[in-house]
Amino acid sequence: VARPAGAGVGAGACVRAGVVVPEAPRASFQARGLGGVSGAGGGAAPAPHLHQPPPSPTSQQPAWTDDIWASAKDGSRRVFCNRSLNMGQVSSVGFDMDYTLAQYKAETFEALAYRSTLDKLVRYFGYPEFLLDLEFDCSYMTRGLVIDKRRGNILKVDRHKYVKVAQHGFAPLSRDERLAVYHASSAREEFGAPDFVVIDTLFGLAEAYMFAQLVELKDERGGGGGLGALAEKPYPQIYNDIRAAVDLCHRDGSLKQAVADDPAKFIHLDPGLRPMLEELRMAGKKTFMVTNSLWDFTTVVMNYLVEGKTGDRKDAGWLDLFDVVITGSRKPAFYRTGNPMFAVDPVTGQLANTDDGTPMAMVGVEMPDAALVGDAEGKVFQGGSFPVLHRILGVESGADVLYVGDHIYGDILKSKKNLGWRTMLVVPELEDELRVANAQKDVGAELLSLRTKRDALEDQIQRIQWLLDHSTGAAHGGEGQGGGARTLEAAEQQDYEHQLEGLHVALSAVKTEHTQRLSEFHGAFHPVWGSLMKTGYQNSQFASQVARFACLYSSHVGNLRFYSPNKSYRALQDEMPHETL
Ligand code: IMP
Ligand code: MG
Repeated sequence: VARPAGAGVGAGACVRAGVVVPEAPRASFQARGLGGVSGAGGGAAPAPHLHQPPPSPTSQQPAWTDDIWASAKDGSRRVFCNRSLNMGQVSSVGFDMDYTLAQYKAETFEALAYRSTLDKLVRYFGYPEFLLDLEFDCSYMTRGLVIDKRRGNILKVDRHKYVKVAQHGFAPLSRDERLAVYHASSAREEFGAPDFVVIDTLFGLAEAYMFAQLVELKDERGGGGGLGALAEKPYPQIYNDIRAAVDLCHRDGSLKQAVADDPAKFIHLDPGLRPMLEELRMAGKKTFMVTNSLWDFTTVVMNYLVEGKTGDRKDAGWLDLFDVVITGSRKPAFYRTGNPMFAVDPVTGQLANTDDGTPMAMVGVEMPDAALVGDAEGKVFQGGSFPVLHRILGVESGADVLYVGDHIYGDILKSKKNLGWRTMLVVPELEDELRVANAQKDVGAELLSLRTKRDALEDQIQRIQWLLDHSTGAAHGGEGQGGGARTLEAAEQQDYEHQLEGLHVALSAVKTEHTQRLSEFHGAFHPVWGSLMKTGYQNSQFASQVARFACLYSSHVGNLRFYSPNKSYRALQDEMPHETL
């Protein structure tokens, strides 16, 4: 396949959608060792969210009894608490599977999703064949970004829904453009469907990147240039096509078969999972899984993840770690009622009807008495709704359940709002976020000092300006224009004017330095989008959702091992600005 025009350009430029774009942001990306999988000039350096699971403890003791871990100050192993949670009162702990228990290797798994999606766009949606030559940088997009389908933009939004960083395709919008597009009208944009999509999980990184590439390509080539369907379609349609192609990859088994063939290539093995689950069970908790993946894929992933088993060595041994496993749950529909539930035979994978979890006889198949009276309820199901799960677990109130997931909406927000479950969000990016924040502690202090200086200068300027505006020179006699104005001697007036000049110069210097330092500070997290959790000085929209909906959050599910299963997690004291005086 012919490379797109612009491909193969040398130093000083890089190719994204086959279009030459300035090198600057990419260069700093590379400098941080965060190059893409196969992006122009990109090496195979790990992306920010590719982390190894925590190391195994050296002794046979539970990890949390070991002083090293119990007192570990290293934030990357910590479980952070937004809302106090006494694990002693939690009777059941549940887990999502994909990107919660199982961490995929983005450089292979997301790259595979990306390639398969391009393949579908070309094969089924009339997109030009040269798209197959595009390359993916899995570290470019980050969670929490918002896709503006109508305008072809990618946005980073703060907790007040103020757009702080915006790109059209890969081209940054200037401050004026950004304000004109998103803040000119009095109506606040809610950034919801159908015009906007939030990248809620790591599954969304590839499609956001591809959207930016296709927007850039369409803009660059205009209506012609052999773009096929891409030439005619407006941006929202392009996004919808990508979405439909991604869905198809998940449906037609292209991703799942590849993972089943070689799990080690796509999934991080996690020797810490078994002890973590066993310790919860030893403490008397019931453990369960609710995943949107179907049984065939779930057992492939869990066999490898927990026991390193692949191919014919796979079995149902990992099920001992759970009281109930719900596959194909269709979260968030699972949090409502009325979803039909099937029993899954873990050996054959076959489905059988149930009456809300209770086995039902099938024509021609004799059913043992115990099954009929519900004493032999199975452990693995497909679909269903939360009341059956609560019944099986013996849960009376949603507050008895802690559910751990990676999807801020489907796992955390909805389960908390609909069922009152207590929640823990897995944020693998946190490890990198903490490392960079720690390395930049001094910069934080410096920024604060620059802000204080800037504010003091502005106040001083305003005071003097007011005096000058509301006074009259003594030579001219008479009163000033405003209340409280006074008469200034000519020398005094001159002196103020002189001071004002100096203050303006100082202010301009402080502002320039502040802007520069702030952008360096954010650039250390990610050269384009900055810190995941902050936008300027405010919490990002993503961070604000984490704070509101996740009782606990941590970089890795296995970090639960470093705390007692009955730990009382306590939230920090809330602080308002007046309390920081
Ligand atoms: P969970 O996180 O364990 O609930 O499972 C997520 C499941 O959703 C996995 O089987 C994914 O393959 C699947 N999935 C993720 N993104 C998409 C999508 O865009 N379309 C269809 N399925 C998806
Ligand atoms: Mg998940």
